[in-house]
Amino acid sequence: MGVEHIHYLLPKDHAFQPSPQQLEKLIAGLYNGSWLCRPDSAGFSQLDFSCSCDFELARKTGGFRREPQTKDCESIPYPATSEWFAARLPADLLLIWPIYGFEKCRSLRYPFDQSVGEETEIYFEIQLQIAENYLHRVSEIIDPLSNVDCKCGASLEFYADGGPFFNGRIHKNCPECGTLFDPGDVFAVCRDVWTGIETEVAGGATSCFALAIDCGKAIPNIDSETAIRIHPDLKKLVEETLGVMFYELGDIY
Ligand SMILES: [Zn+2]
Repeated sequence: MGVEHIHYLLPKDHAFQPSPQQLEKLIAGLYNGSWLCRPDSAGFSQLDFSCSCDFELARKTGGFRREPQTKDCESIPYPATSEWFAARLPADLLLIWPIYGFEKCRSLRYPFDQSVGEETEIYFEIQLQIAENYLHRVSEIIDPLSNVDCKCGASLEFYADGGPFFNGRIHKNCPECGTLFDPGDVFAVCRDVWTGIETEVAGGATSCFALAIDCGKAIPNIDSETAIRIHPDLKKLVEETLGVMFYELGDIY
């Protein structure tokens, strides 16, 4: 199978942006729940950071911040504190914890509600995608939102130069009249990756925050009856820590 899969956990309140304190708590929760591997644990030495040159930055602490300008990439400190976030926000942040060699790291939990797939090497990245304005995630299977204009008529779409995300952007607040744009008021047609069945999803995959699991070609075990789902314990942790409800959407690239 040639497709690569990324799975998003998205806030139902599309405008939600976590505070530095909430981010600190969420990352601590990911470690406590064994969704991330502590750099001082025995399992950590089993992880492989040799697959990509920017993973070198994750070798010490397990995670790194990806930027298009390599010089701006950095390790995510362990533990990641609210002060670290406060010094960087509201800039866009793409935080990545690469988990390569999952099958050898017994202390870690698999983030999907399925068993691991057929690949002999199980890998994925846990990402936090944090943006100042909405990321308008569009793909072969996620259409653009049905409307991206403010009620005053101004177009809210724009493209940002630089930064870690390649998505188009939508202003959170209209630059003309200041009104908050709520992507949940409009929809995107989304096609199920496996069945092709189309549904209208309020807000599509548009948000200022997402937890994403990019599993590339190491797709979990599925049959025609089941869709890929994030593990309910992981979803519950994110919802309880951040105090908002989430929904999930899969995408391919
Ligand atoms: Zn407006």
